[in-house]
Amino acid sequence: MNTDDAFARQRTTMVADQIAARGVRDARVLRAMERVPRHLFVPKHDAPCAYEDRAMPIGCAQTISQPYMVALMCELLDVEPHHRVLEVGAGSGYQAAVLAQLAAEVYAVEIVPELVTGAQRLMRDLGYDNVHIQVSDGTLGLPEAAPFDRIIVAAAAPAIPPPLVDQLVGGGRIVAPVGSRETQTVRVGTKLPHGLETYDSIGCVFVPLRGRHGWPDTV
Ligand code: SAH
Repeated sequence: MNTDDAFARQRTTMVADQIAARGVRDARVLRAMERVPRHLFVPKHDAPCAYEDRAMPIGCAQTISQPYMVALMCELLDVEPHHRVLEVGAGSGYQAAVLAQLAAEVYAVEIVPELVTGAQRLMRDLGYDNVHIQVSDGTLGLPEAAPFDRIIVAAAAPAIPPPLVDQLVGGGRIVAPVGSRETQTVRVGTKLPHGLETYDSIGCVFVPLRGRHGWPDTV
C-alpha cells in the first residue's frame, strides 16, 4: 500500500541511500529532496517506482532526471534563500519544485507545451507559488525576468548558450550538462569580469537541448 506515509519513508531512504551516500552534503538540498513528493511528478502508473535510482519517462519523449542528479546539480548550483533562479527544461516540474525550496523565486521554461500545462497544475496544487513555468526556448534565457543569480540547464547542450551567460548576475553561477548528444559532463560556470570560469563535475546523460542554441536539427 502506498499511502503518503509510505511515500515519505521511500523519500527518506532515497535521500540516505542514493544521495547522501554518494556524497551530497548540503543539508538544505537533502531536506528539499525529502520534502518534494516526486511520485506526483511521474505518470500515475509509475508512482510506485518514483523513488527508484533512475531517470523515468514523463511522456512527450522526455524524462524526469534521476534523484541523485537533481540533488547533485542543486548542490553544485549553491542556491541561497534570496536567489532568483532560472531553469531551462522544466519537464515534469520536479527539479523546479526542489529549487523552490531553496530559492526565493524560480523561473522555469519548457519547450514542449503539453508538459508545461501539467507542471503548472502541479505547482498550483502543491502550493509552490514561487515557481513560474512557461513555454519558451530556454536557450534564449528569459530576458523579461533577468538577471538571475543562478541558472540550471536540464537538457544536454553542445555548449553553454551565450544568452544564459548574459542573463547571469556578476559572480552568478550556471550548471549545465555539456558534451555530445549521447553523453555529457555536468559543467559548472561562474560569471567573472573576464568571462565564464568553468570546471567539470561528473559524467551524465540528458535528453538533447533543442532550440536556437541547442542541437542544430532540433529547433
Ligand atoms: N527538469 C526536468 C527534467 C527535464 S528533461 C524534471 O525535473 O522533470 C529536459 C527537458 O528539457 C525536456 O522536457 C525538454 O522538452 C526540455 N527542453 C529541451 N530543449 C529545451 C529548450 N530549448 N528550452 C526549454 N526546454 C527545453
